[in-house]
Amino acid sequence: MKIILLGAPGAGKGTQAEVISQKLNIPSLSTGNMLREAQKKGTPLGQQAKSYMESGQLVPDELVIGIIKERMAQPDCAGGFILDGFPRTVAQAEALDQMGVAIDRVIEIDVPDEAIVTRMSGRRVCEGCGASYHMTHNPPAAEGVCDKCDGKLVTRKDDDPKTVQQRLETYHRQTQPLVDYYQKAGKLRTIDGNQPLEEASAAILRALEASV
Ligand code: AMP
Repeated sequence: MKIILLGAPGAGKGTQAEVISQKLNIPSLSTGNMLREAQKKGTPLGQQAKSYMESGQLVPDELVIGIIKERMAQPDCAGGFILDGFPRTVAQAEALDQMGVAIDRVIEIDVPDEAIVTRMSGRRVCEGCGASYHMTHNPPAAEGVCDKCDGKLVTRKDDDPKTVQQRLETYHRQTQPLVDYYQKAGKLRTIDGNQPLEEASAAILRALEASV
């Protein structure tokens, strides 16, 4: 199954992508994690992406299309995958179509902006594997340590309130048109992301099982 998770920054895409990944045994591909990894390694891609990411803007389409294309060609993607944070523009969605990637389902995780701003302040991510946590809604077993890889949990630089505001604006302007794009393609299901994590996961799994 090839799945896209759509939703504002902080809507829970990363966390839910991990849940679906385990349930369906398909990898979750996060362009944000790939770009952060590239930055950490200091690759040319990471250097090019840095200023966009830090200011809450989108990295140019051609850069992200290049990395996701390469990732989707890996053998572990043969049985399907979950796209977390890609596509984020209509041009990226069109690029997927042109690559012949047949998406089965698009799940929009809907969370009001006011709730996003509060959520982001409690978010922590693993420096090692990129897994997401929330200090109250989804805490790790041991404080500051990733359950999956024992990596250190940190606050993302772009989770400060000012950058979050910019990222939300970017989302509404450039990414939300994809809701319409996939609605027209008959692939979209919207679930309420403003409910406890487990309930949102259950709603997503139901939406994946149901015919669109
Ligand atoms: P995320 O971890 O998905 O919130 O992504 C963090 C940042 O990486 C975003 O604010 C963008 O600057 C950049 N980014 C991630 N995915 C994309 C994408 N598909 N297109 C453009 N920029 C992206």
